[in-house]
Amino acid sequence: MTHPIQKTDAEWQAVLREKGAEPVAFQVTRHAATERPFTGKYETHWADGSYHCICCGSKLFDSDTKFDAGCGWPSFSQAIPGAITEIVDRSHGMVRTETVCAQCGAHLGHVFEDGPAPTGLRYCMNSASLDFESDKG
Ligand SMILES: [Zn+2]
Repeated sequence: MTHPIQKTDAEWQAVLREKGAEPVAFQVTRHAATERPFTGKYETHWADGSYHCICCGSKLFDSDTKFDAGCGWPSFSQAIPGAITEIVDRSHGMVRTETVCAQCGAHLGHVFEDGPAPTGLRYCMNSASLDFESDKG
């Protein structure tokens, strides 16, 4: 799969370093690792604003779609339209739907169909893949 924004691993590492991303951010976003539950900085973060891709800055979620799923990762019921690409993931003996940034292909997490109404979706994301921007600026 190709995405509009393409960089080498070394270039992404430099971008993440510059942004002060979490140490696991490179492994999570470029190699589909998963941060340990209840360790991410946005898991219990409820400020008003928006969440962007840590790699390319593309807006992914509004804070008003974030909810407490109790699973240990930041969870959202709805993504910004067109911001996320879904991929069938058959790793670890499960069939899941992986979510990646539509712009740069960064691994974000998975989406499950056990979320709240009206979407019924639960975007289970890695904090390390996200960059929060406050409405207050
Ligand atoms: Zn991105």
